[in-house]
Amino acid sequence: MLRGRSALVTGSTSGIGLGIARALAAEGCAVTLAGFGDPAAIERARAELAAVSGAPVRHDGADLREPAAVEALVRGAIEAQGGLDVLVNNAGIQHTAPCEEFPVERWDAILATNLSATFHAIRAALPGMRARGWGRIVNTASVHGLVASPNKAAYVAAKHGVVGLTKVVALETAGSGVTCNAICPGWTRTELVEPQIAARAAALGIGLEEGARALLEEKQPSGQFVTVDQLGALVVFLCSEAAAQLTGASLPVDGGWTAR
Ligand code: NAD
Repeated sequence: MLRGRSALVTGSTSGIGLGIARALAAEGCAVTLAGFGDPAAIERARAELAAVSGAPVRHDGADLREPAAVEALVRGAIEAQGGLDVLVNNAGIQHTAPCEEFPVERWDAILATNLSATFHAIRAALPGMRARGWGRIVNTASVHGLVASPNKAAYVAAKHGVVGLTKVVALETAGSGVTCNAICPGWTRTELVEPQIAARAAALGIGLEEGARALLEEKQPSGQFVTVDQLGALVVFLCSEAAAQLTGASLPVDGGWTAR
């Protein structure tokens, strides 16, 4: 479905972003992977996706905390891939602490990575999408873009910001062939969540798997983790013509978390 199209997925060296990149590649899309990690593991992922896609797959290790690096990342994808049709702003980090103890440096890093990088990538990608009359922007927000939890001041503020930014971009691009939506996952078992599982297990004096169940029981009525494949399939749908009028939405994929 996406043969001849070109995508950039930030934060795609692991977890949800890698799942989204894999789903786009499976539709024949050229992909720029972005993010940090072990070079050998990144090269394995790049080669696997290129084989699946049949289109070029490249990697860029830009640090998204730097606005100029975000612009260069988007420019590099446009130059290497002959344009950019799909932008998935997915990179994100987490830190948990009560507000009055929250390290200022962590607040700045989370706002820069989870929110400001999304703005900088969108403003760099939009002119080309408008000129081509087609584009899909998908921002990975979170259930924490819709509701709050204690000890996540920076993350919840950034993700609510992503939901707001998504609406503004959808209004500014309405009717242009470009759509902008946010996906709002609940608990998805990735490297971002493992420390939270470990902390819960330690606090309750239980094993890791019981800790994971305790996290789910508290917030996610389905009692099951969201999978990265499910999120990848949703992004592919958002890139389809069936979703051409779906814009400005923030779509929960959360096992019922936000229905409570
Ligand atoms: P992850 O830790 O597996 O992936 C994070 C990605 O972001 C990695 O590729 C990492 O290299 C990249 N990254 C981090 N800092 C960066 C920086 N400064 N510059 C460039 N790249 C950087 O985590 P994940 O769970 O896959 O998270 C992906 C997104 O999904 C995040 O935005 C996260 O907030 C969101 N999310 C996750 C969950 C969950 O339960 N895992 C739920 C809701 C939303």
